[in-house]
Amino acid sequence: MHFVEAKGILSPQNGMNLYRGCTHGCIYCDSRSKCYQMKHEFEDIEVKQNAPELLEKALRAKQKRSAKGAMIGTGAMCDPYMHCEQELLLTRKCLEIIDRYGFGLSILTKSDRILRDLDLLKSINQKAKCVVQMTLTTYDEQLCRILEPNVCTTKRRFEVLKIMRENGIPTIVWMSPLLPFINDTRENVEGILNYCVRAGVYGIICFGIGVTLREGDREYFYEALCKNFPGLREKYHQKYGYAYEIVSDNNRELMRLFYDVCRKHNIVCSVEELFAYLRQFPEDEAYEQMSLFFK
Ligand code: SF4
Repeated sequence: MHFVEAKGILSPQNGMNLYRGCTHGCIYCDSRSKCYQMKHEFEDIEVKQNAPELLEKALRAKQKRSAKGAMIGTGAMCDPYMHCEQELLLTRKCLEIIDRYGFGLSILTKSDRILRDLDLLKSINQKAKCVVQMTLTTYDEQLCRILEPNVCTTKRRFEVLKIMRENGIPTIVWMSPLLPFINDTRENVEGILNYCVRAGVYGIICFGIGVTLREGDREYFYEALCKNFPGLREKYHQKYGYAYEIVSDNNRELMRLFYDVCRKHNIVCSVEELFAYLRQFPEDEAYEQMSLFFK
C-alpha cells in the first residue's frame, strides 16, 4: 500500500473513495477496468491519508447550505473495509465526522469488518439515516471462496445483514454479478433471496442476470476462469467475444423468480426507487435543527 495526499474527497454526487484498489480479490471486479486509469497495481492500495481532514472541511461548508446532498456514499469503487482498514481506521474516522456533523450515510461492503463500526452506524441512523449495502452473489460457500477469495463468505454477510436489521439499520443487497455457467442458477438465486427474506432487507438491486466485462477486468476474469474452471474461458470467448454486457441464458427465468420473491415479501426491487432511497435524506426539519446546532 502507499499513501497520498488527496486534493478533494467528495464527488459531485457526494460519493467518496478513501482507498483506491482493493484486496478482496473478486474474480469479476469491474474496478480493475482500464477506464478508471489506476496508475498502480490494483492490490497496491492507494490510501488517501488526509481524507478525514478533507471530509470535515467539506461537511463544515455544507452545513451552511441546505439539506440537499446530505447523504454521503462510500464503497462504490473500492471496499471501505479491506484488510488495511483494520489498522488505518480511515473509514471509521470518516464515519465519526459524518456522525458529528449530522449527515446521512450509505455504505457498501462485502466485509464483516463493518461490525466494528456498528456504534457509529447506529448513531448516524438515529440522528439522520444510515443504509448498509452488502453484495451477495454466491450462495454456495465453496464457490464463494473461489469467486470472492479474500473476504468473508455469503453466509457471514447474511449474519451481518441480520445484525444491522436487529439494530434498526436498513439494508440493501446488491445481487450482482451472476456469472453465466457459474452461479446463474435457480438454486443460487433462491439461496440468496432466501437469505434476503430472512435478514429482512429493505431492497435488492439487481440489473439482470449477467456480468459486465471490459479491458483490464476481462483479462483478470479470464485468468481466473483458466485457473478454476477448465474450459470455461473458451466457452465465454466463443459465446460472448468481447462484449461488454454478458447476459445469462437464464436471465428471463431468474429475473421472474427475483421479482416474484421480492413482491411476495415486500422487498423493494425497483433500481430507480432504491437509488432514490439512497439519496433521500429524512426530513429536512431534523437536518435544520442539526445545522442550527453546529452554527
Ligand atoms: S470488493 Fe469490490 S472492489 Fe474489491 S475486489 Fe471485490 S468487486 Fe472489486
